[in-house]
Amino acid sequence: MTQDGVAIPDRERLRELIRSASELFETKPIRARAIAEEARDIAERLEDTGAIATVYLVLGGSRLADGAYEEAESELRRSLDIAQALGDRRLMVKVLRQLLRCAFYTRNPDAALLRGMQALQLSRDVDDRATEALTHNDLGLVYGRLGDFEGALEHLLAGLRILQQDASSSVGSLLNNIGNVYLELGDNREALNFFQRALDPLRAEGAERAVGIALGNVGRANTALGNHEEALTAYEESLGRHRENRDMPYVPPALARLATALGALGQEEEARRVFDEALAMVANHQHGEFADEVYAAEGRFHLERNELDGAVSRLRQALDLIPADESTRRLYELHEALSEGLERRGDLQEALEHFKAYHRISQAVGDGSTTIRIRGLMLQFDVERTRQQEEIVRLRNLELLRENQNLQVRHEQLSAENRQLHQISIEDPLTSLYNRRYLDLQLGVEVSRARRYNRPMCVAMCDVDHFKEINDRHSHSVGDDVLRTIAVLFGKTARETDVVVRFGGEEFLLILTDTEVAGAESLAQRIRSVVSSHDWSELSAHLRVTLSIGVAELQGGMDSSALLAAADARLYAAKRAGRDCVVA
Ligand code: GH3
Ligand code: MG
Ligand code: MG
Repeated sequence: MTQDGVAIPDRERLRELIRSASELFETKPIRARAIAEEARDIAERLEDTGAIATVYLVLGGSRLADGAYEEAESELRRSLDIAQALGDRRLMVKVLRQLLRCAFYTRNPDAALLRGMQALQLSRDVDDRATEALTHNDLGLVYGRLGDFEGALEHLLAGLRILQQDASSSVGSLLNNIGNVYLELGDNREALNFFQRALDPLRAEGAERAVGIALGNVGRANTALGNHEEALTAYEESLGRHRENRDMPYVPPALARLATALGALGQEEEARRVFDEALAMVANHQHGEFADEVYAAEGRFHLERNELDGAVSRLRQALDLIPADESTRRLYELHEALSEGLERRGDLQEALEHFKAYHRISQAVGDGSTTIRIRGLMLQFDVERTRQQEEIVRLRNLELLRENQNLQVRHEQLSAENRQLHQISIEDPLTSLYNRRYLDLQLGVEVSRARRYNRPMCVAMCDVDHFKEINDRHSHSVGDDVLRTIAVLFGKTARETDVVVRFGGEEFLLILTDTEVAGAESLAQRIRSVVSSHDWSELSAHLRVTLSIGVAELQGGMDSSALLAAADARLYAAKRAGRDCVVA
């Protein structure tokens, strides 16, 4: 099979693999990863750099969806490097967004903001509206985590506007995230409104996990509003969804919320039973991603019932799991609850410390915008600088390209000049036949070749008869015209493979390769006859031109000068024989 015969189906398969892996990597990361690995092998074999970059985006994205952040980061960076080198900004946008999410999950908000802003800028540059909206969504989450709810809302609403214009998917997650911000801000009614609005689009998208999450949020907003019946219904539905989807990490917090609602409705026994189920699940560390929420809910349940030891130990457990640099409502409310439990138990010193923490963090969340705004401005500056650097790199590449093109042109000029020089160096300017220099270079080559392959070879030395008289009688310029005309007649009469050389003054040499002496002699006769029968009166009245020709065949032991000498001797013989004749 030809190389193409293999390559074409490979490329089709590669495209197909990349397409399906790209579709699956957020929802079915393990399946997507297997597909992407096959794609990577093919792309590497085909040395298709563009495909390799896309494959690494999918590989990194699937790692991210699976919680392997370190691997995700390195694979995504690899994709970004290649995309950058290729100048593929459409791909860079998508990679940057995944890198933003990676930074978000690894709790590196500065990197997340920087990447997010780069992704936003680039997505606008390349007019990728869907990624722009998704990036706004992600940035909304980052700002929310930083406690800048105003900034969070700004981004989430911007993302929402884009998605509503473009009638694209993912509106549901944006609505849900906006609800979260309102919940953080304590505007529970508005939060509930957004969570409820999120449900229909999420259901339409088939985003099963997100539907479960949004239902849980409907429950949280209702709990905050004191609508415990509605909350209970929402939690039950949410729990059912997560179980159905086998989204096991989401099951324990859903159970804990359900238990809280049961407790609020006075179903004590049932509440404790459900809490135990949630605690058992997170205790074996299998589904412990949201363990802090389970501990916090159970701790609060104890606190409300004045079971202080249970409350304090659970709330501490929860607090230990939340990173200290978070500025969220859940963090300061935990400090507040713990402070209350400790105070009631009489641990005043420790209670005071937690109260201070509560105060500090709640202040930061309420009024944290100044430092965060400064950070935002600095990041925007960084983004601008990065863009400028990219622009410099791009221009430099352009310049290199231009320089390369200049070199290419220069190179072509030079080789043309060289060809010209070479031509000039081997060409006779009067007749445009080869010159003596060429003969010196070429005759030796032809002689050795004829010898090596044992091929016959002749030369014919031709001299214009009484040329001195022609010059004298008809002028030197007619003499030149005669030489030019003879060159043309030679060209017409000789074969393609015969080499015609102006040997000197009015002497010409024919190199006749693959030619026996008989053939050479007849060609010489033909030339002699063509010249002598030519109508020379066009050049000058009564002008007559004839040639004498000596033909010599290459004999064993002869070199090129011996061959020439032999031809010259025959030419001399032809002159003596009366001119206008051939001697072979
Ligand atoms: P023969 O029949 O014995 O060959 O006599 P000839 O006059 O041709 O021989 P000779 O060698 O005495 O003269 C050659 C002349 O060719 C002398 C020179 O002035 C002339 N000649 C050489 N090169 C050129 C040239 O480029 N143009 C012109 N017009 N004349 C040339
Ligand atoms: Mg001569
Ligand atoms: Mg002559």
